[in-house]
Amino acid sequence: MVRTMYELNDKIRDLEPYEPIAGDYKIRLDANESFLYLPESVMASALHSMFSVELNRYPDPTAKALCEAFARAYGVEPAHVAAGNGSDELISVIFQSFLQKGDVYATIAPDFSMYDFYGYIAECRGVAIPKRDNWTIDVDKVIETCNNEGVKLLIFSNPCNPTSLGLDREAVRRIVSGVSALVVLDEAYMDFWDEPMLPEAAAYDNLLVLKTCSKAFGLAALRVGFAVGSEKLIRAIKAVKSPYNVNALSQRMAEVVLKSRGECGAATRRILLSRDELQAGLEQIAGQFAGQMEVVPSVTNFVVVRTPQAEALFKKLLSVSIAVRYFKNLSALRITAGSTSENAAVLDHIRRFFEANNEA
Ligand code: PMP
Repeated sequence: MVRTMYELNDKIRDLEPYEPIAGDYKIRLDANESFLYLPESVMASALHSMFSVELNRYPDPTAKALCEAFARAYGVEPAHVAAGNGSDELISVIFQSFLQKGDVYATIAPDFSMYDFYGYIAECRGVAIPKRDNWTIDVDKVIETCNNEGVKLLIFSNPCNPTSLGLDREAVRRIVSGVSALVVLDEAYMDFWDEPMLPEAAAYDNLLVLKTCSKAFGLAALRVGFAVGSEKLIRAIKAVKSPYNVNALSQRMAEVVLKSRGECGAATRRILLSRDELQAGLEQIAGQFAGQMEVVPSVTNFVVVRTPQAEALFKKLLSVSIAVRYFKNLSALRITAGSTSENAAVLDHIRRFFEANNEA
């Protein structure tokens, strides 16, 4: 390598590339993806639609057809929708452009870890408003903190990843109307619950709702997400994002899938049945080993267990090739709802873990 004096700046010198879980595991219940493939008929139309994509041309920078399909599926106006390379990209774009260096943003902790990552990259100061011990949200405290600390942007997921709990719509409305900050409401998991602010997002001048195709729609590989809000906010996002942020194949494929919402609704119901099955199985184990594990009542496609044994249980599951997500700071495991056999396998190994521990 040619020697230079080049040094990375302080901000990025010690950052590590994002790597969810390294290694090959037979059962992956760690990333809250859908365990279902697209229904065959939808997959066939999606693949067929690929033939007419002009690969020699840049994609539509406004992703017009995709945004229209999303708008129709969710009953909003296309002018109130912008598309991103996953909602993750939109979070990044929002932090980098709606905030200036030194501005204050707030999260409601614990919440999705990427919020603080992008806050850090944008060189802003984060205020973590703690959730209660049972992970519910103290709405008055959120409003008061935002207004007292001069918060410019409040971001939270609802339902929340990682807690799996939801905040009802009336409480969210109270937050949005009670703060002067821009509220970025991440509804990545709202297809699994029914308290969306999405239909009324454009009625507020300080609300952006984020959606993703990665969860209920089972399209995590395509990287497609949306921001929904007033025309003014959406125009600003379109103006600051990189021009060709969503590739043409993803635009076309996601458009086809969004137009088959009926079939996808069936997939969501199947995922919810799986979640209920996983939740019931975990509760049964928690009942059997009272005081050793607590199961959080989920409104998402994953179930969280809190146990002082979280780390040992996580390692035990990895050793039998089952990946779940371990939160060291919360002493908790987050388990994505899987197929019947995946759920059965993870439940079996968790039960055996507690049995062995109680024999010892
Ligand atoms: N928000 C939350 C709360 C999430 O859990 C995730 C995915 N883990 C995302 C956003 C990012 O989703 P996408 O695949 O659309 O980037």
